[in-house]
Amino acid sequence: MKARVRYAPSPTGLQHIGSVRTALFNYLFARSQGGSFILRLEDTDRARYSEAYVKNLYDTFKWLGFYWDEGPDTGGPKAPYIQSERFDIYRKHAEQLVQMGKAYYCFCSDDKKFKDNEPENEEIETAGGYGYTRTCRSIDPIEARKRVQLGQAHVIRLKIPLEGSTSFDDVLLGRIEWKNTDINPDPVLLKSDGYPTYHLANVVDDHLMDITHVMRAQEWISSAPLHIIMYEAFGWKAPVLCHLPMVLGEDGHKLSKRHGATAVDEFRKKGYLPAALINYVAMLGCSYEEGRDLFSLPELEKLFLMEKINKAPAIFDYVKLEWFNGQYIRMLTDAELASLVLPYLAEASYISQPPTQKENELLLKLAPLIRDRLRFLSEAPKMLKFLFEEPELPEAVEFIPKKKDALFAYGMLEQALQLLGQADLHDHDACEAAFRAEAEKLGCKLGDLLMPLRVALTGTKVSPPLFHSMALMDRQIIEKRIGAAMEHLKNLEHVGRAKDE
Ligand code: GLU
Repeated sequence: MKARVRYAPSPTGLQHIGSVRTALFNYLFARSQGGSFILRLEDTDRARYSEAYVKNLYDTFKWLGFYWDEGPDTGGPKAPYIQSERFDIYRKHAEQLVQMGKAYYCFCSDDKKFKDNEPENEEIETAGGYGYTRTCRSIDPIEARKRVQLGQAHVIRLKIPLEGSTSFDDVLLGRIEWKNTDINPDPVLLKSDGYPTYHLANVVDDHLMDITHVMRAQEWISSAPLHIIMYEAFGWKAPVLCHLPMVLGEDGHKLSKRHGATAVDEFRKKGYLPAALINYVAMLGCSYEEGRDLFSLPELEKLFLMEKINKAPAIFDYVKLEWFNGQYIRMLTDAELASLVLPYLAEASYISQPPTQKENELLLKLAPLIRDRLRFLSEAPKMLKFLFEEPELPEAVEFIPKKKDALFAYGMLEQALQLLGQADLHDHDACEAAFRAEAEKLGCKLGDLLMPLRVALTGTKVSPPLFHSMALMDRQIIEKRIGAAMEHLKNLEHVGRAKDE
């Protein structure tokens, strides 16, 4: 049988790094096996459900650029793929378990405190040992059915065996065995309002959708024995289980907002490229090829092996992700980068949206100025600000190269002004050659000649390549900024860079 895997998010929050990793691993596994990747919306928790989260799910995956073969939008042979459209199926299966003597009607009214879809809830119930007391388990089934027919409010609970143990083999974690007495006593499968719980809907759907492998976050491991009991109760074969190691922050705690951005949307807005995010997330706890970091999605699809997922938790390193992003930005063509930074430059009101023909030409010239420097796209406006706005004049000391003084900086600006007066600014190579020759003549470093000029023109010591930038500037503006800087330094001959000496 071909591999069939699913990503089964609950639309109760934004798509974050952890959820995208689960989806990606499932997707890569499906592709590596020539199998199918399915999206199933587990929207049974209506209290925390929001349409906005469903939209975020579709937007995120559209942006990331990897797709499911079957799902609510694409359809498929196992439709519907939205759990709220499958309630009849769940009720029928819960009733079936009651008939088989594997589940029972419960009339205690305590299902209100039962929160669906929270794995922690299960843990609280078992670890504390104060789960349901199984009061209704001993009611005669004929008597119970009568009460149901008379319309008495009820839930359906699964009978957890009272002795023995339940075990399964997790692909990563190996054999896992739970004493049945340690499993949540008789969890609710169907709530009094007719809604299924996560356990019922999840197991029934995985079976009916022919899911062969379940890869999901490790926080669901406490649900697994319970699910195995359900598969056995129905007489079904359980899928292969693979619980993925957690994604932690650098401090060893579960990755959360405290560490920085976690929602994919935040990375997207900051200007991370989907290919970089996919590459980095795919490497969170999985290896592909020794000594290599950069992989395209098609390469990952070929190389993915479930056995290569690490057992240890993965650490999310924001700096490493920045590095990946930088690498992917360097690979963009001028036209690609230009269109990607356009929204950021438009937001800063530097370029109109849509751009004019002239602005389009300018964008293509701006791209090479920043490609090697950007860590993420939203840095573009700040890097290019000096081309669109008058930079603030920095303090005099900023103009002065190491071990030099204000007089020196003043002299360098004077030289620069003269050189630029004779130069064709558009010929940046010739311009650079003229400065190089001048530095040699003066017996100083090219950097020392350029630094005061760079600060005068851009307002900072670190800027895009200076000669290429000047080629895009107005000669009058260049001269005006140099003049202002000279004025600034004029009366400060005594100012030196004492801290460097
Ligand atoms: N709906 C669950 C979630 O939100 C699915 C867990 C599973 O994959 O079984 O993650």
